[in-house]
Amino acid sequence: MSSIFVETEDQRAILETVRRFNEAVVAPVAAELDRRDDPADCFSWDIVEAADAAGIRTMTLTEEWGGIGADSLTTAMVIEELAKADMGIAVVMAQTLKLAQVLQKATTPEQRDRYVPIFRDDPRGLLAIGITEPETASNYFLPHPSPFRTAAEKTEGGWVINGMKHFISNGNRSGIYLVFVQTEKSKGLAEGSTCFLIERDTPGFSIGHVHDKMGERLANNAELVFTDCFIADENVVGTVGDGFNVLAQFFPQSNTYAAATVLGVAVTAYERALEWAKIRNQGGKPIIEHDGIRAQLAEMRMLNDVSRTYIHRAAWSADNQDQGWDKTLGTLPKVFASQAAWKVVTWASEIHGGYGYMRDVGFEKLLRDAAAFLHSDGVNRTLLLKSANFMY
Ligand SMILES: Cc1cc2nc3c(=O)[nH]c(=O)nc-3n(C[C@H](O)[C@H](O)[C@H](O)COP(=O)(O)OP(=O)(O)OC[C@H]3O[C@@H](n4cnc5c(N)ncnc54)[C@H](O)[C@@H]3O)c2cc1C
Repeated sequence: MSSIFVETEDQRAILETVRRFNEAVVAPVAAELDRRDDPADCFSWDIVEAADAAGIRTMTLTEEWGGIGADSLTTAMVIEELAKADMGIAVVMAQTLKLAQVLQKATTPEQRDRYVPIFRDDPRGLLAIGITEPETASNYFLPHPSPFRTAAEKTEGGWVINGMKHFISNGNRSGIYLVFVQTEKSKGLAEGSTCFLIERDTPGFSIGHVHDKMGERLANNAELVFTDCFIADENVVGTVGDGFNVLAQFFPQSNTYAAATVLGVAVTAYERALEWAKIRNQGGKPIIEHDGIRAQLAEMRMLNDVSRTYIHRAAWSADNQDQGWDKTLGTLPKVFASQAAWKVVTWASEIHGGYGYMRDVGFEKLLRDAAAFLHSDGVNRTLLLKSANFMY
């Protein structure tokens, strides 16, 4: 049984595979891809195919479905490891690994039989979830009575969807999507929305603008556009009008994966600062021998270790909810890890002095990447408010 404190032999072996993948596939190209002007050009199918060949892309599929049945704790470890090399790649995989878990758990046997093989057998198979709209964002974290604008009308055998989602990770790269749509316009989104499984080549579904993000550029985010898009009744996940139950029931580990992603960036920043402090001499000795620097490095290490402990507790608890799950574990680890990572990356760049500000030294990318999770998977303030709602 896995523990939040000690890696198992299996976990060590998996993480070693990820390290080799990072070294051989991601590290050599990440900086160059990140600098490309067109956001769509920053994405690499070669990396996705290599992740498939290494078994990473499908690792949350159960053995029955051809994966290794990685639990949420192991998956969080893998996501942190991926993010040490590049945050965008960690996001591409985190979304896919998380939604592969949902695809197996939240669906009917017929839906699983149809969609899991489509995902599994395509080495470029990625997954995405579309909830956010231009006017409905924090409102779905703190359910507000106003409905989603993306709405469906009932028709014979299914639903006709019109509307759009934006900011969607893997939005322009996925084969299968989970999309949340208002099916009862007179109700609020928490009572009147439905979760649909949608394939990329469905008539009436297209990809809009690819967002030009400041960081996390190796992952693409895009608009999903629905114009009289017919989706059959068989593609409803869960119950009509109860889409939010799918979110509440099947995504306990979601925020934890986001937290693990930003932690990976902070670990890289800390490790680089530690090495730099050993070799950079000022004041007649390596700067690590100056107390101000030594204390700051210790604090960075502490922040990373606390983030990881919180993440591992939340990930393990998500799979073992009878052993002490509390709902704030689904929100607060990401808030803590992203705030801590922002400090760690800033401090690591300062420890590099003027070099930390030079683009080719790489902190500029780490800072842009670390900023992503102050905003995404729920803005931090929104998640603090959501947690407060669980507390009283
Ligand atoms: C890189 C990235 C990837 C993303 N990927 C996805 C994805 O794959 N799928 C998806 O569906 N979405 C995705 N999102 C959306 C994301 O999860 C956030 O929910 C969304 O960006 C926040 O929306 P907004 O900008 O409209 O902020 P708003 O909701 O407009 O919030 C603006 C500010 O107001 C505050 N605020 C809002 N409501 C309240 C309130 N009631 N009380 C007090 N303060 C409040 C917020 O905390 C925030 O500071 C992504 C976003 C980003 C940036």
